[in-house]
Amino acid sequence: MKIVDMHVRTFTYPSRIVRDTEGHTHPGPEHEATQSLLTVVTDDGATGYCFGAPNPAVLENVIKPAIIGEDPMYRERIWKTLHHWQRMSRDLTDRALAAVDMAIWDLVGQSLGQPVYKLLGATRDKVPAYASTMCGDEVPGGLSTPEEYGAFALQCKERGYPAFKLHTWMPPIAWAPDPTMDIAACAAVREAVGDDMDLMLDCYHFYSRADALHIGRALEELGYYWFEEPMDEFSTSSYIWLADQLDIPVVGPETADGKMYTRAEWLARGASDISRGGVSDVGGITPLMKVVHLCEAFNVQMEVHGGGPGNLHALCAMNYPGKYYERGLLHPHLDYEEVEPWLNSKTDPMDNAGNVHVSQAPGLGWDINWDYIDAHTVS
Ligand code: MG
Repeated sequence: MKIVDMHVRTFTYPSRIVRDTEGHTHPGPEHEATQSLLTVVTDDGATGYCFGAPNPAVLENVIKPAIIGEDPMYRERIWKTLHHWQRMSRDLTDRALAAVDMAIWDLVGQSLGQPVYKLLGATRDKVPAYASTMCGDEVPGGLSTPEEYGAFALQCKERGYPAFKLHTWMPPIAWAPDPTMDIAACAAVREAVGDDMDLMLDCYHFYSRADALHIGRALEELGYYWFEEPMDEFSTSSYIWLADQLDIPVVGPETADGKMYTRAEWLARGASDISRGGVSDVGGITPLMKVVHLCEAFNVQMEVHGGGPGNLHALCAMNYPGKYYERGLLHPHLDYEEVEPWLNSKTDPMDNAGNVHVSQAPGLGWDINWDYIDAHTVS
């Protein structure tokens, strides 16, 4: 079996999610947005898919020359080749690597008739989810006050979520960030849901050490489960300093570059209590499993960043489990249960006990609505 082609389809869909000037998502007026689908094809006609395709120029000039002709069973070799190409091709991002790696895993799973998590070595078929909010806003009835966070957390608890994570206020909101408001929101959520729900905070990511310590101590008082990315993750020393002083688990690194190498450095230096990474952060399922096994060897909990089938299949193949699947981002004005128009069913269906079930279909289990994509393809 050899990879003979890779191509991208771009199509439109109606969206009610907008980005602010700093890139955070919020609910907004309906508009036309675009989505892309990467397809990998082999000489025997097998196909693999991933939504969120690499930039077409990078696909043509870097990815295709590196892997056309490769056997998709040689996933480690393909991933390593692309990783080495990144040194000279800086526009080949980890996100692009992740899309290619996931499409190849999907293809192999479909060829062998097995879901990806069983090829990785399954440990479970479902994972508890936490409700992960969008960032704070100034939308009335949204996430504009501590009380609104509290009301939304209670709504998520009633839906079945066993845990809730706040993303609080950040620029471009004029008065943000504000440690006092972050703490007030965390307190309002604890007050609303009571003591039997795991709560986490992922706040502004560029606080000073003093602000981060102040917020962390307040979270300890409120019985929070973890404290995520309050400072720039490129300062490993700042995280060693913070984790040394707090009892609440500090979680990271999430967005820092460097794949499993960065996670190894954080583990060796004790920069966090719980490690982190997702398929898009580290360059696919292949490197994410290296992080998982690294954490297992250090007896360090590993919490997977972000949702989607790549992360879900990895979570169902972890022997030293991450406790939660990150479901979201959620907002009181949006219905997350609504199926994306390019799919026939959600990739992360959740039962009323708050468990997300991994697809038993071969590959990653994309349930693609081809009629929709065919009718809305623009290129
Ligand atoms: Mg985060």
